[in-house]
Amino acid sequence: MTDSRKSVRLPSVRTTFDAEPLLRGVALRVTRPRVAVLTAVHEQPHADTDSIIRSVRGDLGEVSTQAVYDVLRALTAAGLLRRIEPAGSVARYESRVGDNHHHIVCRSCGDIADVDCAVGDTPCLTASDDHGYAVDEAEVVYWGTCPACSTTPSS
Ligand SMILES: [Zn+2]
Ligand SMILES: [Zn+2]
Repeated sequence: MTDSRKSVRLPSVRTTFDAEPLLRGVALRVTRPRVAVLTAVHEQPHADTDSIIRSVRGDLGEVSTQAVYDVLRALTAAGLLRRIEPAGSVARYESRVGDNHHHIVCRSCGDIADVDCAVGDTPCLTASDDHGYAVDEAEVVYWGTCPACSTTPSS
C-alpha cells in the first residue's frame, strides 16, 4: 500500500458490494467500522482477524483492535458473518452465510476453500445415535494438502 496511490480518490473503485442494506436488513446501525469490516470479509473470504484489522485500517485509518473485535462479534451475532474455526487454526470469518457450506483446509499452509454441500452418500451426516437431540446441523471439515503445497516441497 503506497502513499502515492492514496491521494487518488475513486469512490466507484470499490466493488459493487454494498454493506449498508445488509446492515439495515438486520436492524444494525450503519457505521463506518461495520461497513469496513463487512466489506473486508466480503473481499477476503475466510480472512483471519489480523488481516481484517489490517484492511479496515487501510480503509479508515486508526481503528482499535477491540473495536474490530466488537464489530465482528455483532455482525456474527446478527448472522451477517459466519465464524469458522478449523482445529488448530485461528478464527476466520466469511460473508457467505446461510447455506452451511463446508470447508477444505490445507494442513500445510492453512489455506481454506469453500465446498458446497456434500453430494452422494453422506452416511456420516446422519447420526447413528442422536441421543434424542433434534439435529439440525452437521459440521464437516475436509483436511488435505492444497495444490500449491503439494507441488512445493516443504521444509
Ligand atoms: Zn497449502
Ligand atoms: Zn466458506
